[in-house]
Amino acid sequence: MMRGTLLYLSGNKGLRHTAENLSLAQRAAQRFVAGTTPQQAITAVGELNQQGMLATLDHLGESVEDEAGARQATQAYLDLLDLIEAAGLKSNVSLKLTQFGIDVADDLAYALVKAVTERARVYGNFVRIDMENHPYTTRTLDIYRRLRDDGLDNVGVVIQAYLYRSQDDIRALIPLGARVRLCKGAYLEPSEVAFPEKADVDANFIALSKLLLSPEARAAGVYPAFATHDVNMIDAVADYAAQEKIANDAYEFQMLDGIRRDLQREWVQEGYRVRVYVPYGTEWYPYFMRRLAERPANVAFILRNIVADR
Ligand SMILES: Cc1cc2nc3c(=O)[nH]c(=O)nc-3n(C[C@H](O)[C@H](O)[C@H](O)COP(=O)(O)OP(=O)(O)OC[C@H]3O[C@@H](n4cnc5c(N)ncnc54)[C@H](O)[C@@H]3O)c2cc1C
Repeated sequence: MMRGTLLYLSGNKGLRHTAENLSLAQRAAQRFVAGTTPQQAITAVGELNQQGMLATLDHLGESVEDEAGARQATQAYLDLLDLIEAAGLKSNVSLKLTQFGIDVADDLAYALVKAVTERARVYGNFVRIDMENHPYTTRTLDIYRRLRDDGLDNVGVVIQAYLYRSQDDIRALIPLGARVRLCKGAYLEPSEVAFPEKADVDANFIALSKLLLSPEARAAGVYPAFATHDVNMIDAVADYAAQEKIANDAYEFQMLDGIRRDLQREWVQEGYRVRVYVPYGTEWYPYFMRRLAERPANVAFILRNIVADR
């Protein structure tokens, strides 16, 4: 109920505008966001790298409605790739197609993401296309395939375990040797397309993990990323990989900045690859609301902190 309400509100443009301009709300968002400027995010990534963690940087923004906005986002990512290179950081970038103008035209988003992926390739870097809600799934995978057809292999996608279609999508991605991030899925989806029960999502996450670590996937060059803070999922992946004698560097775990830092440190110390997703920027509202929805106890936590600070 609370999850649904928060996810519903995450798409409210009026609330987004108000919240992003409220200093109290800005402070609350700091728990999940590395700062408003690229420089702050670069500093945060430097600290993570020092602790043995990899990163992926996200210049926050989504649901862009015009070409100018999409081009601004593109420039921000091109600059970000230059900054990562100049600072010598171990970080790639993650982006969303609705930030790159897919709502204006699929071809626009494709062309702009292609420019970012080409810049990343110059640096030997990598671009992850995040997955948004289900109306974008097929279109996102199509754009990913077009980029691969262009000969760009430094680009990856995300598959969400809550979607019924995901097993078929992974089976189609394996022969491409795709770099797939598997996550549970963060959006409000109808039961026509997604498992409504957490237990089913979890079971699917484990089944899909095994598919991504299968001999067939490894032979095709699939390098999977398991994006979760769920200890049961992480244990299941690590146990399966150990049982199949798969090296720790043949896959990675990914977690969000500000969430379960203890786990992030623990798994690095155990000798696993951990990549932290580091978002920054002024357009934090939808991202922040999805984080609240994942753990509604966060709402109380944040309210308590705001009251204590006053
Ligand atoms: C690196 C990364 C990239 C992602 N990319 C995408 C994407 O492209 N598309 C997409 O739809 N989703 C994405 N997600 C979000 C993902 O789909 C889930 O919504 C999110 O990770 C929460 O699910 P969980 O696997 O951590 O498991 P859950 O079962 O939700 O949580 C397990 C435990 O993790 C902790 N936890 C989880 N979330 C929070 C939180 N917000 N605050 C505090 N504690 C928390 C709690 O201890 C909880 O008990 C991404 C997640 C990560 C980590």
